Amino acid sequence: MLTVSEIFLSVQGESTRWGRPCSFVRLFGCNLRCVWCDTKYARDGGDGVATAMSVPDVIAAVEGLYSGKGGQKEEGRLVEITGGEPLLQPETPDLCAGLLSLGYEVMVETNGSLDICVLPPGVRRVVDVKCPDSGEGGVFLTDNIGLMGPSDELKFVVASISDAIWAADFCDRHALAARCPIIFSPVASLLPYDALAEWMVKTRPTGVRMAVQLHKVIWGDRRGV
Ligand code: SF4
Repeated sequence: MLTVSEIFLSVQGESTRWGRPCSFVRLFGCNLRCVWCDTKYARDGGDGVATAMSVPDVIAAVEGLYSGKGGQKEEGRLVEITGGEPLLQPETPDLCAGLLSLGYEVMVETNGSLDICVLPPGVRRVVDVKCPDSGEGGVFLTDNIGLMGPSDELKFVVASISDAIWAADFCDRHALAARCPIIFSPVASLLPYDALAEWMVKTRPTGVRMAVQLHKVIWGDRRGV
């Protein structure tokens, strides 16, 4: 069984698939405690609801989101499995495999502290590297780097310019620009977009693109969108 926080259809807001309609499966529970975490309901519970669902039930729920346009016949269906931390749940690879077999483009967003090799081939892995201001710097599993390629993405959520400087240095030390797309995404409440943009223009870190969380620009902190 999977422990699910929520399943919904929205737009992809945080990756190179930015702006595309995307369904989200948010799994419950996380092994980290980032100070700026914006999904505490999927981490700690509280006002959040966690529901036990089988893999086929989750897949049926995702399929149901697309029923208005012909269900399985719709092309280009994108689904992201996120959390919380999805790799904590042993059945996440089975969920990915099931969705891939139905023709979905499957993304998994993971916090970078766990081994991504458990995911089946074909999954686009969006792997976070936690910066110092998250309070979880140092948890990144560096062995993951060797498993990543052009169809994966690395994401650094930066809460300050010093985080961005640290992240750029990390990218250089590990030659990440040659490996996969790299995204720096600001914590909107802590680092103004223009401050990071000005730093990006001045510094031009190799292979890095800046992204803002599109869903927050549109809907703020509303859940389920
Ligand atoms: S890894 Fe993600 S879900 Fe877990 S505490 Fe950090 S931001 Fe929150």
